[in-house]
Amino acid sequence: MIRLAEKTALITGAARGIGLAFAKAYVAEGAHVAIADIDGSRAQKAVNEIGEAALAVDMDVTSQRSIDAAVARTAAHFGPIDILINNAAIFTAAPIAEIERADYTRVFDINVAGTLFTMQAVARHMIEYGTKGRIINMASQAGRRGEPLVAVYCASKAAIISLTQSAGLNLISHGINVNAIAPGVVDGEHWDGVDAFFAKHEGKPLGQKKSEVAAAVPYGRMGRAEDLTGMAVFLASDEAKYIVAQTYNVDGGNWMN
Ligand code: NAD
Repeated sequence: MIRLAEKTALITGAARGIGLAFAKAYVAEGAHVAIADIDGSRAQKAVNEIGEAALAVDMDVTSQRSIDAAVARTAAHFGPIDILINNAAIFTAAPIAEIERADYTRVFDINVAGTLFTMQAVARHMIEYGTKGRIINMASQAGRRGEPLVAVYCASKAAIISLTQSAGLNLISHGINVNAIAPGVVDGEHWDGVDAFFAKHEGKPLGQKKSEVAAAVPYGRMGRAEDLTGMAVFLASDEAKYIVAQTYNVDGGNWMN
């Protein structure tokens, strides 16, 4: 069964990692996908691999002009947008005493404002075209609970859960479903800086290295990007039409651990 035939999807931060896995899964379900990323050359590399059902779009979610241009380019190439995944985000870690305001501002600009204003631009587009669309925001288990070294990132992901509730309740009156996915710990380049950070703080009771994090997942291993694609396809499909303003954990049981 092909569940997203002829749908147009815009996925932010899709040049690598989870967003790229979403793009491949959507194409396998019959969708056309704009791979929108600040790393334009990597987005093009992904498109070369996927083929003509994908389009590389240079996009910086911190720039309104770039958001509007990405929406226009996607729609001009594939037709009106049916699905948005707000996936672009950055990670940061620091003890509370060492958090820098510039770091906080950058994380909130990308993770929260980037999600809000991309959601707004695509919602306006969907309302204009009368599209009964789907918006999926990427939250995290980090948005469900605080973590000792990750206050800023955790707060940004808690904001995504809250934004998903408010936008979901608002936009369903236009037939647009907004929901979110909260992954646990998913292996990938996202984690490159994490081990270096914990190595720097070796010996302090601050947190866990990647290997320790992986060992603690009840499922028995870290997540893989492909573990999340089923939920992303389901939330975009017709089967999910009565699901509104929810955030789903896909985490191997990790956030309760
Ligand atoms: P990643 O770091 O591998 O990829 C993020 C992508 O976003 C990159 O391609 C990057 O170039 C792009 N990006 C960064 N800033 C951007 C900007 N300003 N505009 C446009 N694109 C930008 O991340 P990932 O691990 O694949 O995570 C994807 C999503 O899942 C994120 O929202 C992340 O917070 C969330 N998440 C990840 C994990 C995990 O363990 N990996 C866990 C929970 C939630």
